Amino acid sequence: MQGSDMQGSDMTVQQAQRALSSAFKTAGIDTAPLDARVLLEAVTGLDATDMARLPERLLTAQERALLLDYQTQRLRAKPVSKILGQREFWGRAFEVNEHVLDPRPDSETLIEAALQHLPEAQAFRLLDLGTGSGCLLLTLLAERAHGEGLGVDVSGAALAVAQANAQRLGVSAQAQFLESHWFEAVTPSFDMIISNPPYISDAQIRQLDKNVLEYDPRLALHGGEDGLDPYRHISAQAQSYLRPEGWLLFEIGHTQGEEVCAMMRQSGFEEISVLPDLGARDRVVMARAPRGPRRK
Ligand code: GLN
Repeated sequence: MQGSDMQGSDMTVQQAQRALSSAFKTAGIDTAPLDARVLLEAVTGLDATDMARLPERLLTAQERALLLDYQTQRLRAKPVSKILGQREFWGRAFEVNEHVLDPRPDSETLIEAALQHLPEAQAFRLLDLGTGSGCLLLTLLAERAHGEGLGVDVSGAALAVAQANAQRLGVSAQAQFLESHWFEAVTPSFDMIISNPPYISDAQIRQLDKNVLEYDPRLALHGGEDGLDPYRHISAQAQSYLRPEGWLLFEIGHTQGEEVCAMMRQSGFEEISVLPDLGARDRVVMARAPRGPRRK
């Protein structure tokens, strides 16, 4: 779709979708048809069914202008979620911006695992270290009405997004937020600690997609020279913040399972297991604090 097409004569939703999709395909965007549909839906307020029913519906001049703007942004490698300011996670829409990591489908593995160990009918306390958009913490609280949670982040701007998402999901009463470098300002104790910390190494960060590198905050990505710094730090301290037999769940990069397990073992955790994501790659490491008081 050329700029002149969009500004010029009439265009139906079907024509716009085809033109947009082919422009994205030409630019090498893997998800071209999907991106075209999502952007067009956002611009017109129509859903997929409406669009199938009304392929001849004309775009207004305003819609054409907005769509052209979205097209330009997408062609500059900006992800659809960051263009629209929202992203679906576990069936709910989360607000996102340049201060937070985009919620990823991979992280749903952690949600699934956590839900198995969070009671449905009893109170519990959950801590999310590096909460970002709040997608992990707030999804779990939305699924468990008796749970309470604390979302920690070193970025105040990220916490503002998480707070807005808590309101959006109707779980503000269950959630609190705290600006802190990991455990620094946190007081014990919790039944479960979850974290999807930054885990990209120096070497990998240079190879990241433009998509990720330019539009996800580096603070949310870079985990030190070998990418494992946050796991080392959190594993070593977590038991002081967990109740006996409390759970620690990490999202990991798919090659980090063994090393993260070893750190947890060394810190005295038990029942350590690694869980795969939908692509069958290691994605979550989960372990339990011992029953008794911590042995050093
Ligand atoms: N907890 C958030 C998420 O899983 C943010 C993680 C991060 O910024 N590293 O998306």
